[in-house]
Amino acid sequence: ADGATRQAKTAADGVQLYHSGLESESLRRIGLAADLRRALDRGRLEVHFQPKVRLDTGVVLGAEALVRWPHPTFGLVAPEEFIPIAGSTGQLGALTEMVLDEALRRSAEWAGEDGPLPMAVNLSPRTLADKDFPDKVASLLERHGVAPERLTFEITEDDVVSGEPRLTPALDRLHEMGVRLSVDDFGTGYSSLAYLRRLPVQEIKIDLRFVQGMATDADDRAIVEAVLGLARHFAIDVVAEGIEAHQTVEELRELHCEAGQGYYFSRPLPADRFAAWLDHWTRLRLARVAEACGGT
Ligand code: C2E
Ligand code: MG
Ligand code: MG
Ligand code: MG
Repeated sequence: ADGATRQAKTAADGVQLYHSGLESESLRRIGLAADLRRALDRGRLEVHFQPKVRLDTGVVLGAEALVRWPHPTFGLVAPEEFIPIAGSTGQLGALTEMVLDEALRRSAEWAGEDGPLPMAVNLSPRTLADKDFPDKVASLLERHGVAPERLTFEITEDDVVSGEPRLTPALDRLHEMGVRLSVDDFGTGYSSLAYLRRLPVQEIKIDLRFVQGMATDADDRAIVEAVLGLARHFAIDVVAEGIEAHQTVEELRELHCEAGQGYYFSRPLPADRFAAWLDHWTRLRLARVAEACGGT
């Protein structure tokens, strides 16, 4: 979309600029590809964490790991830009393993009374096409002492539907191992919902555009309600993405949506700051519960 905007803007300025626009874009891409390799080798990519929260009680259900690349000259590069680059330069495997390793380390570190903190990691379809991937997952789970049930892989709806035949063996293996599968950005894809029955899906995440639109747009609200109904029918958990306002929390509660994620609770944070957030949030929540019970 960024590329298209730039193209439209420069096209109006004439052919010369149009060309240089494209040129600098591919130069950036080539530069980034080389820099990405270095950053991966030197451990410069970071993983940030965002909580998944129960909307009725405020209990933290887990965290989602989101990769970050602080680039020395370009600043923070968005995963939407560098994940495709990693994919086309053969670095996606290394990137995914780095994120998974760090996510599982933190899951164990942030364990509560009932075990490691449930952790979600995003996957690209390419990763699932690697037939050794499930074994790598198994060995990382073992290394960090995290039960497979504590790990969820998030895959976007488009990827689940379009790449399905090739991805099925890996998804089935992971499911047999006990790893959970979540369909990300739900509602943006094919709207062919039959696959929910065929795939071993335990969770769907309603795309933020519907969540953010539901306060003002009746169509968005209808989509959210329909997804909740469908999920209930299939006994699939639902997480609403992109909650930024208290009003949205209230509306989702009314619709009996169980869980949510978004800036309203916390932005994705570096590990040390996430740990501090978790601590603070938990104490605040317990204090409220005590208050409601007539304690201090
Ligand atoms: P996603 O998995 O759907 O992640 C949600 C995105 O929404 C994240 O963007 C998050 O920072 C952002 N977000 C969370 N709460 C809010 C909110 O309240 N308002 C708004 N406006 N945005 C919110 P991010 O971190 O830039 O990631 C973008 C996408 O990149 C992710 O979408 C995911 O598909 C992909 N991605 C991120 N990390 C990884 C990774 O380690 N591996 C792979 N394969 N993909 C990743
Ligand atoms: Mg996700
Ligand atoms: Mg999403
Ligand atoms: Mg997304």
